Amino acid sequence: MTDPAIVRFAPSPTGPPHLGNLRTALFDWLLARATGGRFLLRIDDTDQSRYNPSAEADMMGLLRWLGLDWDEGPDAGGPHAPYRQSERLLLYQQAAEKLIEVGHAFRPADEPDIVRLKTPSSGTITLQDAIRGEIQFDFDRVPQNPVLIKSDGFPTYHLATVVDDWAMGITHVLRGEEWIPSTPLHLQMFEALEYPPPQFIHLPLVTDHEGKKLKKRDPSFEARTYREAGFLPEAVVNYLALLGWHPGTEQEIFSPQELIESFTIANFQKSPAAFNEDRLRWFNQQHMMRLSDDDLMRRALPFLEAVYPDAAAHNESWIITLIHAVREELITLADAPASTGFAFEYGPLTEDAQTTLRTEQALPVISAFQSAAEALQSFDSESTSGLLRELRSQFKASYGWGGRAVMFPLRAALTGSIAGPHLSDVVALLGKAETLRRIEHTLAIMKS
Ligand code: GLU
Repeated sequence: MTDPAIVRFAPSPTGPPHLGNLRTALFDWLLARATGGRFLLRIDDTDQSRYNPSAEADMMGLLRWLGLDWDEGPDAGGPHAPYRQSERLLLYQQAAEKLIEVGHAFRPADEPDIVRLKTPSSGTITLQDAIRGEIQFDFDRVPQNPVLIKSDGFPTYHLATVVDDWAMGITHVLRGEEWIPSTPLHLQMFEALEYPPPQFIHLPLVTDHEGKKLKKRDPSFEARTYREAGFLPEAVVNYLALLGWHPGTEQEIFSPQELIESFTIANFQKSPAAFNEDRLRWFNQQHMMRLSDDDLMRRALPFLEAVYPDAAAHNESWIITLIHAVREELITLADAPASTGFAFEYGPLTEDAQTTLRTEQALPVISAFQSAAEALQSFDSESTSGLLRELRSQFKASYGWGGRAVMFPLRAALTGSIAGPHLSDVVALLGKAETLRRIEHTLAIMKS
């Protein structure tokens, strides 16, 4: 087993979190949990011009939703507090002074209130990346003399990240591949400040399905879109973990705990990973299938209530039965209202339903069902399926009508549509009074 890894997720609170951010956080979390280490949340808020006041809370909300709990952070506190860079300015100023002292930084004569790194004009520096191996940089090709302390007294990303990664005892830095070009500057500072550098792990890019780099601001990549669209957090975690990492086996469906158990740094891939929403939907469906009725009901309820505000007023076992009846149709939780709509409202008939009601079977079947249902005492799904079975065999024996010819008019009469869950479940869920009301309503239309 590897040593406990101390990792940090260091979002810049500049805008709505996207799935790429959360993938980085997930890998941080997996590494920390797999090694019995620690996961720190640090807010990289040194760019005051791009600061977005809701971004920090949004990020925390999404991390919590995914179950990526952190051991130290702005809310949780910890031995390295504070965890917002804007509250750590003194540390950066001290480090900048030290860099000036050892000849690796300077205050330009024409800009006396800023500090710049003094990049060597020649020579090389080598990054040992856990995924990409050794990468050598020529100093004459790296950004020259970048700013470390701005005139507002705030550090730039480069200085702040080096100082904090060292001060917080970070052992592994996981971040997107787009940060590789900044690494020589960081390595130079680690060396000049005599800080041992962390292990760098530059994660492969996430692209769209055409292989183009995903744009941060693309709304289809915004994390909250998926939460609102009824994706399960464990499915998102499962899917994101496989974007750039593999378990080394054929297994595809993982619980978060199984991911922790399978996680190893050696199984990151170098090549970009393509984000594919259809794949994510497939993963979601797989995880939905694994939930108990009870759990699925609890998670679907907020989505139901958003459309049918009195959904929660029904008793719990009724809602569980309802969810059970439709669960095979659900890909995300947000599909629940459409699939269960028949139980809450009786809408206009679909065209297929109208056609079915014009068949020669419709009137005799619906009338026979009406009498049988009126006579039926118990309306649980066992009794209702008994009733329907009997009806089917009667019509088969007397007229030779097939099952569909008998069931479709009833389905149309009871739900307004010819698709949906088992009819016996529909009848049991509607109950006697509502079932008969809908039958009468349909008969009245048919006879008018
Ligand atoms: N604040 C940086 C970002 O938003 C962190 C990069 C890093 O992990 O060093 O991506």
